[in-house]
Amino acid sequence: MSSVNDTGSGHPLNAETRLVTAGRDTRAQKGFVNPPVVHGSTVLYPTAADLHAHTGEYRYGRYGTPTTKAFQQTLMALEGPQCAGVAIAPSGLAAISTTLLSVLRAGDHILVCDNVYRPTRQICNIVLTRLGVETTYFDPLIGTAIETLFRPNTRAVLLEAPGSQSFEMPDVRAIAAVAHGRGALVIDDNTWATPLFRRALEQGVDISMQAATKYIGGHSDIMFGTISANAAAWPIIQETTHLLGICAGPDDVFLAMRGLRTLAVRLAQHYRSALDIARWLQSRPEVIRVLHPALESDPGHAIWKRDFTGASGLFSIVIQPKPQAAVDAFLDALTLFGMGYSWGGFESLAIPFDCAEYRTATKWAPEGPTVRLHIGLENVDDLKADLERGFVAFNKA
Ligand SMILES: *Cc1c(COP(=O)(O)O)cnc(C)c1O
Repeated sequence: MSSVNDTGSGHPLNAETRLVTAGRDTRAQKGFVNPPVVHGSTVLYPTAADLHAHTGEYRYGRYGTPTTKAFQQTLMALEGPQCAGVAIAPSGLAAISTTLLSVLRAGDHILVCDNVYRPTRQICNIVLTRLGVETTYFDPLIGTAIETLFRPNTRAVLLEAPGSQSFEMPDVRAIAAVAHGRGALVIDDNTWATPLFRRALEQGVDISMQAATKYIGGHSDIMFGTISANAAAWPIIQETTHLLGICAGPDDVFLAMRGLRTLAVRLAQHYRSALDIARWLQSRPEVIRVLHPALESDPGHAIWKRDFTGASGLFSIVIQPKPQAAVDAFLDALTLFGMGYSWGGFESLAIPFDCAEYRTATKWAPEGPTVRLHIGLENVDDLKADLERGFVAFNKA
């Protein structure tokens, strides 16, 4: 097998091809297409000399197996040449906590975007506070004005583009330029776009995390997290994951690996179906606003167009003000959209949300109730008919 990133003629392979070819060593796999699922803790050394010299590719199950290596190589190939390494974690949230524990130490300050995943805020508010790290939240639309929030001890900026409920789109490139001028690291949660639709490490991000539970797994059957880092950040990420004992079970690694192989076709369909339904929803009288950065009308559209090559299946709607009972009637009338937290699987989901409960740097005051939709891989006409059933119940309530 030659390099996973090119054909040998200097012509770079495209992302879809890299997802299929990377991380496969057919000879080592004894001809089989996929790497073995290695269940293993102990690694045996053939001689005492080998033991003393720590020779051999693997040392102990926690530090990696042929299965984890195949996954890491494939995700690295997708992230692009800026990626110096990938660490794996037992959940997306574990990837975030491990990253923060890698980067921060007592006395540090971190700037956190106000639209980040709520449990990420809880890590900052509870765990980091306990460890003597101070957090300041900032408006996702702050841009270069973030400069004023920096302190001499600001070690990192944490972003999510776009936020996975409210979909405001921070200008990651502009914020990263300021952060690097101040000697701070830029950390980002790229779960929504995945590196297929946004190569975060090429846009000023030093450490890009994903809840691989979502699109990489793609089937709502695993908990898994990833941390991709550039050359500047990889040593501290690798060291800390090893020190903390962060690893994941082999069957989950295998399912994440298998998810990567089909990520491009699944995401292309999520993108197409979600945008189609988002446009259809814009024409519904029950819908005041659709929060989806790939829509031309969205305030984040220019940044989306500049930095993203696609959009995922997750977006939100603001609906006409009505009592909660009407929103509940809408949700209960849906038969194809399930109600559940999480997203990124093959199935469609609808969930009410209210960011006002936890925002601190910005005020979240939409014109009506808000519902987040995940558009799965069902037929779009069936999904529209289902939403229509929901709106009938909403109007009747
Ligand atoms: C789900 C999610 C996480 C956490 O991932 P888990 O695997 O559920 O721990 C982190 N960030 C975002 C944006 C998410 O949607």
